[in-house]
Amino acid sequence: MAATRTFSIIKPDATRRNLTGAVTKMLEDAGLRVIASKRIQMTREQADGFYAVHKERPFFGELVEFMISGPVVVQVLEGEDAVARNRKVMGATNPADADEGTIRKAYAESIEANSVHGSDSEENAKIEIDFFFDEDEIVG
Ligand code: GDP
Repeated sequence: MAATRTFSIIKPDATRRNLTGAVTKMLEDAGLRVIASKRIQMTREQADGFYAVHKERPFFGELVEFMISGPVVVQVLEGEDAVARNRKVMGATNPADADEGTIRKAYAESIEANSVHGSDSEENAKIEIDFFFDEDEIVG
């Protein structure tokens, strides 16, 4: 199968605990290649826009506050079946439900502060990549 792309965020709980390298190693060990990466302080406008699909959910306000509470690392990942491969190594949203060997089992603090974001479909991956990256920033 040809390589595909997905979008990842190393969330503020993980950057705060200096886990950028540890999380990235788990992504790489899962067969994903970081083909673009930047550490940014997300603005409130960016967080609102990025999570717009969750606007009606009761935790939306808290989620936005959390995502702007410190720096994040946004990444484009490439690999065979990248979306599913990344979701598998991320683990369940709630770390209490996450399997052994997943990033969230290893590092997540809570259902909210769960260390990583990963696109849930190829369609959303493209939208999310375009939200944070210009094509010339994706260097391979
Ligand atoms: P994901 O695709 O596994 O990240 O999960 P969702 O798309 O359902 O939720 C997006 C993000 O919202 C999660 O990664 C969490 O950071 C946060 N989140 C999800 N469920 C809850 C919740 O019940 N409470 C709070 N505070 N945050 C949540």
